[in-house]
Amino acid sequence: MASDAEKVVIIGSGCAGYTAALYTARANLRPLLLTGAMPGGLLTTTSIVENFPGFPEGVDGTDLMIRMQQQAERFGARVQFGSAVEAVDFSQRPFKLTVDGEEVRALTVIIATGAGHRHLGLESEDKLEKKGVTYCATCDGALPPFRNQPLVVVGGGDSACEEATFLTRFGSRVYLIHRRDQLRASKIMAERVLSSDKIEPIWDSVVTDVLDVQQDKVTGVRIKNLKTNAERTLPCAGVFVAIGHVPNTQLFQGQIDLDDAGYVIRHSGAQTNVPGVFVAGDCSDHVYRQAITAAGMGCQAAIEAERYLALQNI
Ligand code: NAP
Repeated sequence: MASDAEKVVIIGSGCAGYTAALYTARANLRPLLLTGAMPGGLLTTTSIVENFPGFPEGVDGTDLMIRMQQQAERFGARVQFGSAVEAVDFSQRPFKLTVDGEEVRALTVIIATGAGHRHLGLESEDKLEKKGVTYCATCDGALPPFRNQPLVVVGGGDSACEEATFLTRFGSRVYLIHRRDQLRASKIMAERVLSSDKIEPIWDSVVTDVLDVQQDKVTGVRIKNLKTNAERTLPCAGVFVAIGHVPNTQLFQGQIDLDDAGYVIRHSGAQTNVPGVFVAGDCSDHVYRQAITAAGMGCQAAIEAERYLALQNI
C-alpha cells in the first residue's frame, strides 16, 4: 500500500458522512472527513428534527450533527473543517483528491456530499438572494425585514410546509405558493399548514418574477395561475424557496456514473462503478432523503469500504 495514502477519505459532513466516519473509525481505519463549506450539512438549517429515532421530544438539527461529529471523533475520526475538495482523480490508485490546493491520496473514498437547494431559475431570484430571497426559513426567518410582513413560501413538500409553519411566528401572513392543488408533504405537515389561520395556500400557481430588482430588495412576487394563466402581483417582504434539492455531485462528473439528474448511481449496496469509491446519503438518493436513511447509507458505505480494504489485507 502507498504509505502516505489515507485508508478512508469521507467527503461530506451530513448524517451520511458522520455515520461513515463513526463506523470506519470504530474499524480502526482513522478516517479523514472533509466537511466542505457547510459542516453538518443541510440538517443544520432545520430547526427541530422530530423523526430521528431516539429523540422522543425532537432534537435541534445542529445539535444532532455536533453529537454525530463528537461520536465519530471519540473513536479516532479526523474531521477537517471547511476543506473543499477541488478535484478528484479516480483513474489512478491510490485515488487523488485536490483539497484546498493540496494533494490527498486515498485508498478508499466515501462520497457523502448531500444535496443543495433547488432554485426557481429566475434572474430576479438570483439578484435578490440574501436581499429577501432565501432558501432557509430557520436561518433567516427571524431577521428584522421579515417581521410582521407578508411572506411567501414556494413549494408543496415537507420543507415548504415546515418553512411556512415556522414563518407564522414572524410574518404577518404567510402565502404558500404551490404549482398544483395538492400538497406533496406528509399528512401531518400538510394538516399543520391547512389548519393554520395565518397561512394562505395559493394553488396551481408559480412565481414568474421576484420584485423589485431596481430597489435591490424584495417587495413582492409576480405569480401566474397555471389553470387560468391569470397573473398578479403579491406584495411581500420575503420569498422562501423550498422546492426540493439538487445533488452536490458536479465534482464527480466524468469520474463516476451519475444519473440524468446528477445523482450518483449505486451498484449493489454503497458501491459506485469505481471499485473503492463508495457513496452514501442524499447525493445518491432522490427517493427517501431522510436523515435516518442517509445515516443508514453511511453505515453501509463504511462497512463496504472496510471489507474492500480487508480483501487487500489493509
Ligand atoms: P420535495 O418533497 O421534492 O418537494 C418539492 C416541492 O417543490 C414539491 O411540492 C414540488 O412540486 C415543488 N417544486 C419542485 N420544483 C419546482 C419548481 N421548479 N417550481 C415550483 N415548484 C417546484 O422536497 P422537500 O420538501 O425539500 O423534501 C425533501 C425530502 O425531505 C422529503 O423526503 C421530505 O419528506 C423530507 N423532509 C422532511 C421533513 C420533516 O419530516 N421534518 C422536513 C423537510 C423535508 P410537486 O409536488 O408538484 O412535484
